[in-house]
Amino acid sequence: MKQETVHTAEGAGDVCARYGFDAAARRGRLELLELGAADHDQAQRLQQAVIMPQADDLVERFYDFQTRFPAIMRAIGNRDNLERLKRTQHGYLLSLGRDFDGEAYFAERLRVGEIHAMRNIPLSLYQASYRQLQQLLIDAIPAALQDERPAYEALRTFILKITSLDMSLAVETYYSARVAALHESVDSLQHEHRHLRDKVGRDALTGLANRESVLAELESALSTVGARGAELCLIMADVDHFKQINDTYGHLAGDKVLQCIAAKLQQLLREFDIVGRFGGEEFILVLEDTPLAVAVRVAERIRAGVEHELIECDEQRVRLTLSLGLTQASARDDVRTLIRRADDALYQAKEEGRNRVVMI
Ligand code: GH3
Ligand code: MG
Ligand code: MG
Repeated sequence: MKQETVHTAEGAGDVCARYGFDAAARRGRLELLELGAADHDQAQRLQQAVIMPQADDLVERFYDFQTRFPAIMRAIGNRDNLERLKRTQHGYLLSLGRDFDGEAYFAERLRVGEIHAMRNIPLSLYQASYRQLQQLLIDAIPAALQDERPAYEALRTFILKITSLDMSLAVETYYSARVAALHESVDSLQHEHRHLRDKVGRDALTGLANRESVLAELESALSTVGARGAELCLIMADVDHFKQINDTYGHLAGDKVLQCIAAKLQQLLREFDIVGRFGGEEFILVLEDTPLAVAVRVAERIRAGVEHELIECDEQRVRLTLSLGLTQASARDDVRTLIRRADDALYQAKEEGRNRVVMI
């Protein structure tokens, strides 16, 4: 509905421009249908001899026929719509062929296709109805003209040409409108796709990057160490005695605690650091362009930050600690050797009594 209002408010020039019907394209279309300056006389004759004397009657006969088809009745909907359509059709007939080479004529016809597409009226129905109208007009050429065979033929030819023009314009926008709708759904699918791709890279519980995506990021970050001697540090962090949380408060409470710790890690890290959930209650932190001395301070800040935070757990507040293993990448490292070293450091932190940072 909104779209309809916008389009009616749009000028004829804008509508033509939207569908690529500038003056040259309009001329081209008219040439294709062999509509020329001489046809303006025929247009006038069509109006004066065929349409104007019996416009109401033509509309009635057109809809008498149309409403015999259940498919068309369904598309029309109710009585009010039928009355509205009759008025539109009346206006349409009285404009048929008038100034057919003008911008306004083209714009009106282009809008017809838009409106049909918007109302989801099948193209086959539109074409069938239009063929009916064509027939009705030809049959309505006054009998008097039958005696003047050449005049009759000329008017009949004009009716076929002008209705072909109108139909071709409506069909064109009909399809453009459909294509635009398809583009819209492709856009929304792409949006959904990006959303899903992002979701696939995230851990469902904590919302942190998951193991696969952190490993992929680590791999590409590591290549900068070899290529330009960048300094990269890796931290593996594991919650101490986490099993006790599950055992004491239940697995769901444990889940919540993991979410709190994930949020805390994000809060304690710098914006450009990468943090992911490596699995279970173990987290992985990649610090790019970070000298070892700085990484030690970051690790210590994390350890102290978690230790000093009381975490909400099943209506109680618990104090948790982390053990952290830290290592710096060398040009000889790959993902596997680097993680193994950080893991060894973490293991050592556990061995030495937990709640500490060990660097290898
Ligand atoms: P440590 O200090 O040696 O690390 O002791 P820990 O209890 O933390 O280590 P352990 O490996 O014995 O136990 C880890 C526990 O983490 C066991 C497992 O049930 C729990 N866990 C792993 N993933 C999840 C999860 O997604 N949710 C919850 N609630 N618990 C998890
Ligand atoms: Mg643990
Ligand atoms: Mg563990």
